[in-house]
Amino acid sequence: MAIATINPATGETIKIFEPLKDAEIASKLDLAGQTFQHYRQTSFYQRSQWLEKAAIILEQEKADFAKLITLEMGKPYQAAIAEVEKCALVCNYYAEYAPSFLADVTVKTDASHSFVRYQPMGVILAVMPWNFPFWQVFRFAAPTLMAGNVGLLKHASNVPQCALAIADIIHRAGFPQGAFQTLLIGAAKVADVMADDRVKAATLTGSEPAGASLAAAAGKQIKKTVLELGGSDPFIVLESGDLETAVVTATTARMLNNGQSCIAAKRFIIAESIATEFEKLLSEKFLALKVGDPMEPDTDLGPLATPDILQDLDQQVQSAINSGGKVLIGGSPLSHRPGNFYPPTIITDIPPDSAIAQEEFFGPVALLFRVPNIDAAIQLANATPFGLGASAWTNNHQERDRLIAEIEAGAVFINSMVKSDPRLPFGGIKRSGYGRELSIQGIHEFVNVKTVWLK
Ligand code: NAP
Repeated sequence: MAIATINPATGETIKIFEPLKDAEIASKLDLAGQTFQHYRQTSFYQRSQWLEKAAIILEQEKADFAKLITLEMGKPYQAAIAEVEKCALVCNYYAEYAPSFLADVTVKTDASHSFVRYQPMGVILAVMPWNFPFWQVFRFAAPTLMAGNVGLLKHASNVPQCALAIADIIHRAGFPQGAFQTLLIGAAKVADVMADDRVKAATLTGSEPAGASLAAAAGKQIKKTVLELGGSDPFIVLESGDLETAVVTATTARMLNNGQSCIAAKRFIIAESIATEFEKLLSEKFLALKVGDPMEPDTDLGPLATPDILQDLDQQVQSAINSGGKVLIGGSPLSHRPGNFYPPTIITDIPPDSAIAQEEFFGPVALLFRVPNIDAAIQLANATPFGLGASAWTNNHQERDRLIAEIEAGAVFINSMVKSDPRLPFGGIKRSGYGRELSIQGIHEFVNVKTVWLK
């Protein structure tokens, strides 16, 4: 895949970038390794000041960064603004709380004094996806830099200008040149970088095959990884749930980011008694969405990020139909216009045990299932290889407690859509990955948890 900016709304190639040559990669690794030696000595106070400055730059220049995001991956401009603002939030959050998250923890033992100290590991590689091209990187960079590590970013090949802009923000904020660098390289080079002695660990957000490949390369070197992979999140509505609010939230939860979010609601599991009404209301909401130029302020749904994603989604919809699924609305690409546009789509009647029901639909396609009771709802919710998030709607306490206890996922949101929040850990189980980002758990992923014993 070429490293290039191609406008998903028009198909126009804006700029192509030469991948780094081996010697250039080597010199960036040298700089990262050397920088770590002095960066690790900087104080929390100093790092916090730099991170707060990064937040100020993000806020001040959010209009420019949002345009870049929309140009490269097609999300509506207003959503891109919100993404940049969230990056400023995570910078300020870790600037404030990292010192306490990383403070020594005294543990009473038979020593005269024993405690846990959190120390930086060194150079950490981040392999990141295009779907939240700023947010995914800042939620890695903020805790990593606060912990005294240095970062190397291999961003997705379709968002190179976002990648360069992020490194520039971090430098302008005051961090040393080698504390955070972008590597414009293809996926095939990642294993070599992982094998370099100076790289101590890696995090990858992306697809299962990419995660498996990175983890295998890291495993050969006995290096730690965090994997944030795909999801096919259930959105369960039981009879006692607030149907109207659930439908409004379902629309947002499926359509966020043009349907390309790992924690988007993808499988709608609805109690039989309210399913017909839910279908009707959801269809109305989906049909009311304005599909179009993502730069326009009133656009709800922009294009998919690449022609390949459009093609893959179209094939999945065809497989769903071939497996017995019925298309309520949408169901084929909007081929009358340039760009990678796919309409809001609802499919019902897919046999829950069909192979296609196990897959992640990465676009504006909702799969609807009917269930007779909560047992069937939980069973179906858990019947995928994924376990990222789950949203469930009920006003019955016993049902709520069962959903929290029995759903296999990294997060369960009751009467709300699944979302990330710097204050709460984020991550999955099963084939959605392992490890956590954000909150205190996130900053503890890439540190040496050193036990200290004083006699
Ligand atoms: P992808 O193809 O896996 O790409 C993600 C990143 O991995 C890109 O930088 C890509 O580089 C790189 N990559 C691809 N193959 C690789 C390999 N064999 N070895 C090392 N690196 C490799 O994912 P995507 O299709 O762009 O993103 C969508 C997926 O990400 C969905 O499954 C979504 O659910 C998941 N996702 C998960 C989360 C989460 O937090 N759990 C968040 C967002 C997205 P190139 O671009 O150069 O190929």
